[in-house]
Amino acid sequence: MEQPNFYAGSHLDRAHRRRSDPDWLKLCLAEPGTRIVPVWRNLNLVRRSERVSAAWLPAASSSLALESRESVLLGIGEGAAHVAVDLSDLSEEALAPIVGAHGEFVDLRTVGPLLGAEEGALLAYARGIAFWHARHGFCGNCGSSTLSAEAGHVRRCVNASCGISHFPRTDPAVIMLVTRGDQALLGRQPSWPPGMHSTLAGFVEPGEALEEAVAREVMEEVGIRVRDVRYRSSQPWPFPASIMLGFTAVALDVAIHPEPGEIEFAGWFSREDLRRSPENEAFKLPRRDSIARRLIEGWLGEA
Ligand SMILES: [Zn+2]
Repeated sequence: MEQPNFYAGSHLDRAHRRRSDPDWLKLCLAEPGTRIVPVWRNLNLVRRSERVSAAWLPAASSSLALESRESVLLGIGEGAAHVAVDLSDLSEEALAPIVGAHGEFVDLRTVGPLLGAEEGALLAYARGIAFWHARHGFCGNCGSSTLSAEAGHVRRCVNASCGISHFPRTDPAVIMLVTRGDQALLGRQPSWPPGMHSTLAGFVEPGEALEEAVAREVMEEVGIRVRDVRYRSSQPWPFPASIMLGFTAVALDVAIHPEPGEIEFAGWFSREDLRRSPENEAFKLPRRDSIARRLIEGWLGEA
């Protein structure tokens, strides 16, 4: 298999058969070797020494689990259970003695590329599933409360006449590098960091194949028809809840018509332009941990 994208490629055994045992999560939390992977208000715990690394708390502080909103058994790795615990209900003051010298809470996106790939994937998984729990406390069918089950991988509606099981959801988004001979189309959204130019992207809609979503988004955002839509790779993107599905496509048109309000600028760039990217506030490529960057570098590597 090709090198996974950043935030993917975890070797954790997700142990899905054992999740349905209601006692298993409790047993894991009582096990001294268990690693508690805390999430606080969408932030992850990291330690800064010579390098930045993922930090966890010893399970001995299992009162943590009681104080937390939700615990999720992420899986087994290096012989230890890894349990995500959402501490968002705690104030910063209440959090300090629990976290102590173990690390500091940061937005994963600010440190992503500095982490080892395995650790990046673990923290992305913890953040993504904590976000899902936080947003699914009520049943979308009947409005009653839901309760976590299956070691945190399901939420069940408490209303006996409904009883629906809700599963963690990930929103599919297509992201695509559109090319035309030796040129690639990059654009900018007004909300992006200064100078950043990247590929086009958008959410998949109901009743639409991925290839159709690619063609529709390119037409909507820049008014260009495409052919040869080809899947390349995918990337979990829990910011907050997406999976990015990476494609390349070949443009049938040259003239760009940026969508007002959505695309601030879009243009054609040669391989030479991109290889010489000054990486400054006037022009920079997307971040190194993004699938957009990988799509661009993959294309640069083809010639
Ligand atoms: Zn319900």
